[in-house]
Amino acid sequence: MILSHKIRLVPTQAQEDYFRRACGTARFTYNWALDAWKKAYEAGDKPNGRSLKLQFNAIRKEHFPWTYEVHRDCTAGAFDNLQGAFQHFFRRVKAGGGAPGFPKFKKKGLAKDSFCIANDKFSLDGRKIKVPKLGLVNMREPLRFSGKIMSAVVSRTADKWFVAIAVDTEVKQQPPKTKGAVGVDLGVTTLATMSDGSKVQHSSKWKRLEKQVRRLQKAASRKQKGSANRRKAVIKLALKHYELACLRNDVLHKTTTGLVQSYETLVVEDLNVKGMVKNHCLARAISRQGWAEFRRQLEYKSVMHNRVLVVADRFYPSTKTCSGCGAVQPVKLSERVYKCSACGLSVDRDWNAAINLSRIPLGKGNFKPVEMEALASGCIAGETTVIEA
Ligand SMILES: [Zn+2]
Repeated sequence: MILSHKIRLVPTQAQEDYFRRACGTARFTYNWALDAWKKAYEAGDKPNGRSLKLQFNAIRKEHFPWTYEVHRDCTAGAFDNLQGAFQHFFRRVKAGGGAPGFPKFKKKGLAKDSFCIANDKFSLDGRKIKVPKLGLVNMREPLRFSGKIMSAVVSRTADKWFVAIAVDTEVKQQPPKTKGAVGVDLGVTTLATMSDGSKVQHSSKWKRLEKQVRRLQKAASRKQKGSANRRKAVIKLALKHYELACLRNDVLHKTTTGLVQSYETLVVEDLNVKGMVKNHCLARAISRQGWAEFRRQLEYKSVMHNRVLVVADRFYPSTKTCSGCGAVQPVKLSERVYKCSACGLSVDRDWNAAINLSRIPLGKGNFKPVEMEALASGCIAGETTVIEA
């Protein structure tokens, strides 16, 4: 399977200048290609990345001689990216449901800056990467994955530079540790609640960062548009967002790795259920990004470790069902404790949902001994192990 390792780069000023020019060239080429694609389509043609690249190269020397200042992969990669963007677009059109999202022009300063390097054009030597036309650039750590190197993408996030190296790695054969199935419920205040009774909660640092993001967001919006102060405020905000993302990814990676290492089957809920609830609250918006990333990590890690990932049907009432007797009753969002009116069970709301999820692979009504013990020993709210991330 293909995995990407994203490594922070430590470029010199001259190297950073090259990166900026390379990103600019890649963005220009992408926009040129998108425009040409639209025109060709309107003229009744069936354009593709390859034909557009030939068209571009034919006029390149005359019209865009400055694009030769950077390596040719910057322009070539842009055509591949556009081809990919249209492939995804056509797939979404075919699948239906919701707006398919036609590929957009990349706006300077708003679009994510990046450029590609083909696998035969760069080489790695420990904590150094040799980039064509540039030479050795320092990396913060060496590549961790072994296997065939497929490609590299250099990108910028919050004024920091990264290289994502795609590697075709082998799938690990995990020794069967038959710990059965685990259900995972994702939330806002508690990041994840597992059916085994453990919880992953955000640290105090998380709350502090969230507060800082909110403050910086307000500060940036108050500055005059197009001003130097606005630009400075936006960079500050981007850095804070980046810090938050780093903290979140660290927690997510540790949690998802722990799960795939100890369980054979993992059950998660369909994210659309929660995603559909349109809520502009910042904490919720950030959580949603976390849920999507959590799911993405579980998906590839369960393949990597030979595990089964089950996604619950979006209509499965994991929150409303009593994990003790199976009765279904409405539950308000504010109720943190599930109190069953049929059997009198009182249990942490998220834990109740996680237990219900963990039973999906077994079929309804099957109780696992582990859970029975847990339920018997104390199904009172709050009596769960809390992992402070
Ligand atoms: Zn009940």
